[in-house]
Parts: sequence; C-alpha cells; structure tokens
Amino acid sequence: MSAFAFVNYTPVIGLEVHIQLATTSKLFAGDSTTYGAEPNTQVSAITLAHPGTLPKLNKKAVEYAVKMGLACESEISREFYFDRKNYFYPDLPKGYQITQHRTPVCKGGIVPVRMPDGIVRAVRLNRIHLEEDAGKSIHESEHTETLLDFNRAGVALLELVTEPVIRSAEEAGAFLSEIRKLVRYLGISDGNMEEGSLRCDANVSVMPEGSTRFGQKVEIKNLNSIRFVQQAISAEIERQITMLNAGLRIKSETRLYDPVSGNTAAMRTKEELNDYRYFPEPDLSPVVISEDWLATIRLAMPELPWQRVEKFVAHYGLPLYDALVLTEARELADYFETVCRFTSNYKAVSNWIMGPVKSYCNDNPGNGFPLTANLLAELVGLVETNQVSFSVASQKIFPELIKNPSKTALQVAQQLNVLQESNAGVILPVIKSVLNDYPQKVNEYKKGKKGIIAMFMGEVMKRTQGKADPKLATELIRKQLENQ
Ligand code: ADP
Ligand code: MG
Repeated sequence: MSAFAFVNYTPVIGLEVHIQLATTSKLFAGDSTTYGAEPNTQVSAITLAHPGTLPKLNKKAVEYAVKMGLACESEISREFYFDRKNYFYPDLPKGYQITQHRTPVCKGGIVPVRMPDGIVRAVRLNRIHLEEDAGKSIHESEHTETLLDFNRAGVALLELVTEPVIRSAEEAGAFLSEIRKLVRYLGISDGNMEEGSLRCDANVSVMPEGSTRFGQKVEIKNLNSIRFVQQAISAEIERQITMLNAGLRIKSETRLYDPVSGNTAAMRTKEELNDYRYFPEPDLSPVVISEDWLATIRLAMPELPWQRVEKFVAHYGLPLYDALVLTEARELADYFETVCRFTSNYKAVSNWIMGPVKSYCNDNPGNGFPLTANLLAELVGLVETNQVSFSVASQKIFPELIKNPSKTALQVAQQLNVLQESNAGVILPVIKSVLNDYPQKVNEYKKGKKGIIAMFMGEVMKRTQGKADPKLATELIRKQLENQ
C-alpha cells in the first residue's frame, strides 16, 4: 500500500494572446507589414529608433483595438498613453518596446466560449492593450551566427490577457478558436497561427480539488498552434501533478514546449527576469478617444459570431449544429443569409451549404465559390418543387453549374435531361405496363408482401430513366395495386 493519500487536482489556466493586427503599416511607423518580404526591407529609421526620429501612432490600430474591446464588452479607456518597457534583446532594435502598462485601451471584458461539453461559458478578460512586435532571430544550421530580420519589429499587436478562469487544455483550445474566429469576423487580423498572426502564452497551475487558493503558476511561452497550446498545457498539468505528488515544489518559471518530445522544458526562472523600468513613452502624447469616434466605430461593428449562432437558430430555425458550422467563417454565414433572401427553405439552404458547397470549397481552397446566391436558391427550388431529386441536383446539376455559372439551374437540368416526370398522365401508363409484366409479383403483394413495392418502383425508374418523381410514383403504384 502506498503511504500517500492521492489528491485530485484542479488545473487553473490564464492565457496571454498576441494578435497581429492587419494594418498595412506598423504601429508607430509607415513601414509596410507585408508578410514574407525579403529580410530587413521593411525597416525605417523610426523602427530602429535612430536619434532624431519620432514614433507616430497608427490610428487604424487604435480603431482595431477598440473594435476588439467593444466585441468583448470591455470598458474602453477614453484616454490612455503608452509606456516604454526597457530590456535588451538582439531582436529589439530600440532597446525598449512601446507597450501599455498602466492604461490599456480596453479593461476587463468577456468572451462567450462554447466549451467541449457544449456549455457556453463566459471567459473573463483582464485587459486588451496595444504594443509593438519585436523582430525575428533566425537560426539556420548553415550559419553559426544568429541572423536578425527587423521586418516584424514595430508591427502592431493586440495583447489580450484572460483572468485565470480556464480549467482544462480543451477549454483553452476552444477559447483560442473563438478568438481566431472573432478577429476574422472583425477584420482586424488574419488570425493565421502558422504565420504567427496569433501567438499564445499559457499560464498554468494546479490546486487541490475544492481549494480556492491557486497554486504556483508556470508560464509556457510562444505557442503557435491551437494543437500545441492544448498539448503543452496537458503536459504541464501532468508534470506539475507528478511533482506535487512526489512532494516537490513548483518553481515560478518560464518554460518552452517541445512538440517533438511533447514536454515542456525550463527556459528561465522568474528570479532571472528583467526589471523593465516602465515609464510613460515621452515621444508620444496621450490618446483621447472622442465620443464621435467611438460612436463611428460602434456603428461599423459587424454581427459577432456568437450573435450569429443565436440568430441562425432563432430566426432561421436551424439546429444548433447547423448554426455552428455555418458561422465558422463570416463569408460562409454571409453567403447563407444572402441565399435565404431568395428562398424561405432555410434548412434546405443550410444542407446545401454544409454539404456540396463546403466540400467544393474544401477541395478548391482560395478560389471563392462561383455560384451566386440566386443560383443556389434556384437549385434549392428545383428540389423543393420535385423537379429533380436532391441527389441528381447535387451530383449532376451542381458540378455542371460550377463549370457554367452563367446558365440557370433549370437550363442545366434540361440540358442534362434530368428533370423529374411529375405528370401522372405520363407515369401511369409505365406503371400499368410494369404491373402487367409481373402478375406473379402482384399476387405476392396482395398476399401481404408489401415490401415488393420497392421492386415495382425500381422497374418504373428504370423505364423512365430515373426521371419519375419518386413520391408521386410510389403513390400511383400503391393505388394501382389496391385497385387490381
Ligand atoms: P504576472 O504578474 O506574472 O504577469 P499576472 O497576474 O499579470 O501575472 O497574470 C498573467 C497571466 O497569468 C494572466 O493570464 C492570468 O490569468 C494568469 N494567472 C495568474 N495567476 C495564475 C495562476 N495561479 N495559475 C494560472 N494562471 C494564472
Ligand atoms: Mg502581468
């Protein structure tokens, strides 16, 4: 028997998310922010803080920060200033970073997140502030030196800090997905984690179940995919529990996650951390957000992803599942709503978009979707009025329309000769001839073998080249058999 009384632990997680803003120029200089340019081609004297240069605030970046704050119901600071955070690092050409220490643009806030258990939980934010990015250190195997690319230095970032309210790796992943979706809806960032537009530091601690006193936190830096965030947090929770169970103490430190080994490793302890000597940035004046400007930004706010989910369920009567899939990307949600202006069969539109439209887009990424909303609505209408079956519409007409989006759906259906025969006067003689040819089967039906109707149906379909309206044909066959 073990001498230990094993304790269950509750993880406590707080995230710091860096969001690269989609402004075309940097936060305090006119340099381009285009990703992937030749190293050190987007670096002005201002970015390098050469003597005599002065930073100039990018108004668009402030607007984007306010947008994010409004979306998260943060308190928007009507007057704020920037601070200098002083430290030496090779990728920091100025020797300091301009950030916001005491007066973030946005204070507090909440993000409603649908957690893995399906329940929506409001993740409370501590703050959202503006700051500039650092450059990039490049370590290539053929060089023993470190190469420096300052193109990214000075690019506008939003840093969003949550309260320590997240309780599992999966919740952290769900939160990040929601943030990525939100910044894309707002159009303030491409949210592209592979290109570093969204980066996350995860603060992790564990405490005995039922406790209200948080344990010692450890910070895991620079996670650049949602999968890595989840893996790193899981690994760190496990490491801390193992330590505590072995009677060891958790040190306050910064760690890095290694995706290859699946472990976190110590980078530096807090004692080694710099004293940043923050002070208000003397080269920038305080920023005032006027009532007018705030009202203008508020007016331009789009519907938010979670508002759209609600609307898709309440207004369009869609199942929650559909609403979630259709609101994954703003373009998809917009398309759905546009198609719904031309038809009131909303569920059918949803099925079309979640099915054939999405799979076309997945197979042809980056091409956009060629069918106008009007055209898709027409296709929905053809099925609704029984002129074609859904399978014919999606497998035959849809691909043809994509090749020729200038034709109407009806034209393509006629050209392919797939319009369903829903004229009883045409179908009935075919049914009669089928029943005539199979007297034996008719007898079996009469003796109670009702399933045989499928065989008659198959034969009718064969003789009409699949064009008989199945509902009408079934009805007519049944009637004919009852009358025999
Ligand atoms: P620091 O002063 O070390 O920067 P902060 O209080 O500013 O710490 O918090 C930084 C981040 O760490 C926030 O996201 C916060 O939610 C999170 N955090 C704070 N305390 C804990 C804890 N005990 N366990 C996990 N995360 C925590
Ligand atoms: Mg802090």
